[in-house]
Amino acid sequence: MKISFDLDDTLIAKNKFTLEKINLFHKLFGIERIRKGTIDLFRILKKQKHKIYIYTTSYRSKWRIKWIFYSYGISVDCIINQQKHLRKIKKLDFQCSKFPPMFDIDIHIDDSQGVKMEGEKYGFKTIIISEKDEDWTQTILKSI
Ligand SMILES: [Mg+2]
Repeated sequence: MKISFDLDDTLIAKNKFTLEKINLFHKLFGIERIRKGTIDLFRILKKQKHKIYIYTTSYRSKWRIKWIFYSYGISVDCIINQQKHLRKIKKLDFQCSKFPPMFDIDIHIDDSQGVKMEGEKYGFKTIIISEKDEDWTQTILKSI
């Protein structure tokens, strides 16, 4: 399956959830910290032959996002940032903050109830993760 992850408040946030440990390299280059559990979760999903996408409404560049994950020793298969989303959705005739089927994504993981509602309205699957969910990786693995 192709599984996409939101970035802000799902995998990246300051002071909302515990974060993966960082090393000197991360400090030196000021690389954004990711949620604790992300590394193991991505490895498990890869082992299960899933493709991992990042689907964010942020304008961070594709390379900046790729580099964040690469610096933690994990790779993602595809990055969809706001620029890419807008370019593609322009061709369809409706408004949606995220529309995973447009990129052949099977399931999208996010923190936003708005995205969940869009999923119900436009017929795509979501898993909504609370920032307070300490067991968030299990929540995802069980749903998948
Ligand atoms: Mg978010």
